[in-house]
Amino acid sequence: MKDNPQVKTAKQAGLGQCLKCHKLNVITHKDQRCTCCQAKVSLRKYRSLEYTLAWTIAAVVAFIPANLYPIMIFTSLGNPEASTILSGIESFIQLGMYPVALVVFIASFIVPLGKMLGLLILIVTVKTGSKVDPKHRTQLYHLVEFLGPWSMLDVFVVALMAAVVNLGFITSIEAGPGASYFALMVIFTMFAAESFDPRLLWDNQNNDD
Ligand SMILES: [Zn+2]
Repeated sequence: MKDNPQVKTAKQAGLGQCLKCHKLNVITHKDQRCTCCQAKVSLRKYRSLEYTLAWTIAAVVAFIPANLYPIMIFTSLGNPEASTILSGIESFIQLGMYPVALVVFIASFIVPLGKMLGLLILIVTVKTGSKVDPKHRTQLYHLVEFLGPWSMLDVFVVALMAAVVNLGFITSIEAGPGASYFALMVIFTMFAAESFDPRLLWDNQNNDD
C-alpha cells in the first residue's frame, strides 16, 4: 500500500463482500443483508481470530492422543499388535514399503502439523500487526486451505492397509482410539481454516501510513 496510496481496501471504501455469493455490498448499517442473496454481510467475520485460535488449540490438543494412542490394531501371524502413527510408519519401513511409509508420514504427520503451524503464524501476524507482506501471508492462507482435503489421504492409507492384509502379512485390522482423535484433529483444523478471515491480513497494512 505504501507504493500506491490511492489503493483503498473495500473496508475503507465502506464495501463488504458477501461471503455466500461474493457480491460487493455498500455497508450502511450493522445488520446489512446482501442485496443479491439476502445473506448477512459484514466487513469482517465476527470474532474471526478468537474462533480460529480456539479451533487450532483444539486441533493441537487432539493431535497429542492421536499420536500416543494406537491408530490401528492388527493381527500379524496370530499376534495382536497395536500401532501408533509413528510405530506404523516404522513397521512399513521394516517391511521395506518405503513409498507407503512416506505417504503415511506426509499425510498423518507433516500435513496436519504444517496446517496447525500455518494457522498459528497467521493468527500471530494479524494480532501483532506484522509488516510481513500480506501477499505472502495470503499465500500461506491459501496453502492451509489447499491442504485441508489432503488430510483425507489417510483414507487412502486405510485402502493401502487393506491391500497389505490381502497380501497376507496381516490377518485382521481394527481402528484404535488414536484414529478417532486423528479424525477430530482433521475436523478442528478445517473449522479453524474456515473461521479465519483472510481480509484481516490486509488491515494492519493501512494503520501505519
Ligand atoms: Zn450474497
